[in-house]
Amino acid sequence: MDVLTAGVALIVVQLCLAFIMAGIFYVAPNEKCTHHWALSGVTVAFGVLTVVLNNGAWRPPVLLIGNSLVVLGLVFQWSGIRDFFRKPNGVAGWAIAALFVAAFCVLLFLHADVGQRSMLCALTIFLLLGLNFYEMLNGSTVHRSYARVLAVGALALLLFAYGARLYLSLTRPDHFLPTSNSALTITLLYLIPIIGSLLFSNGLLLMYFERIVADKHHLATHDELSGVLNRRAIVAAGERELRLATRLKLPLAVAFIDVDHFKNVNDRYGHEVGDQVLVEVARVIKETCRNIDLVGRYGGEEFCVVFPGVEAAHAAAIGERLVDAMRAHPFPHGLEVTISVGVAALAGDADDRAWASLIRRADIELYRAKDAGRDGYSLAA
Ligand code: GH3
Ligand code: MG
Ligand code: MG
Repeated sequence: MDVLTAGVALIVVQLCLAFIMAGIFYVAPNEKCTHHWALSGVTVAFGVLTVVLNNGAWRPPVLLIGNSLVVLGLVFQWSGIRDFFRKPNGVAGWAIAALFVAAFCVLLFLHADVGQRSMLCALTIFLLLGLNFYEMLNGSTVHRSYARVLAVGALALLLFAYGARLYLSLTRPDHFLPTSNSALTITLLYLIPIIGSLLFSNGLLLMYFERIVADKHHLATHDELSGVLNRRAIVAAGERELRLATRLKLPLAVAFIDVDHFKNVNDRYGHEVGDQVLVEVARVIKETCRNIDLVGRYGGEEFCVVFPGVEAAHAAAIGERLVDAMRAHPFPHGLEVTISVGVAALAGDADDRAWASLIRRADIELYRAKDAGRDGYSLAA
């Protein structure tokens, strides 16, 4: 393959990736990352096109524009990654690009040879790829997902290629002119960038897709107001825990929690304060329980907690702890919020292992706690 064919292949790949990113941005314009990634593809494509068409001729403005566009493309890519991870706009990438433009102008002014200019380009691209690598490793969301491993692996490949290019342009400069038709040049300058950018862009898209799936799943399983599981999810999780407890012959407990006289809070302070109280109630319940306990909102001001592996004696202690924690918690407007808790425990060898009957028993206990004057718990015998 000659340098022209390889260059055209890189341009075509970058443009195709830009079209795909632009299409995704069109579908979800509130996500700025795809906008930046599309811009990145277009700028890199035009940058490479300019360099390839120039074919090593001494045309300072053309050389400056071509190489700067490639650098700018990598800055857009970096901006897109920061957008993806919902980080504020950064300056590092822009600073590297500005330094590059200044240094390249100096080299052109001094009539530096193509080897020195190529070295500056390789160094700048290496630094920007390193910045992208850093952002990928430091971003939040799902760690070590397939998509992320793919994108980080592709970046590592690109870093390797540009690191090798930098090293070789120091040790074997003759070999390393962009116009050289040597197999090594074509591999490092075009083939690996083609493979790397294909894998990297698709890795980014896959990460984007993974996040959409995770967001959708979260919306479908969590209560919007309090952030705990919604009714459907707590029932499904409870039934799953019950099956597991049955198979392993383990105990299990559930608690039904209802806020006392909650209507008064709404009537006196309005629904907004009522909502704040519900959020706080959910937070106190979560903080009082273990990480493995499942907390859900059953509806209104009623919550349900599933305690895997918990026996009756321990369940009573949990009920008491929940009631005490709520009473002691400082609520907005100095409100004193209390709860009533109904607890039902299932022994490891119990016969009736249906979720519905367990819940029914907890519900009966809740009403017993209410009848006993509220701000307390009741445990099914
Ligand atoms: P009890 O001690 O017997 O449980 O009395 P209560 O006032 O808590 O019970 P009741 O069932 O009479 O009232 C529950 C109230 O919860 C009525 C409803 O307006 C309120 N509520 C239900 N869902 C929400 C919500 O999402 N936000 C707010 N602010 N209020 C809610
Ligand atoms: Mg209620
Ligand atoms: Mg209530």
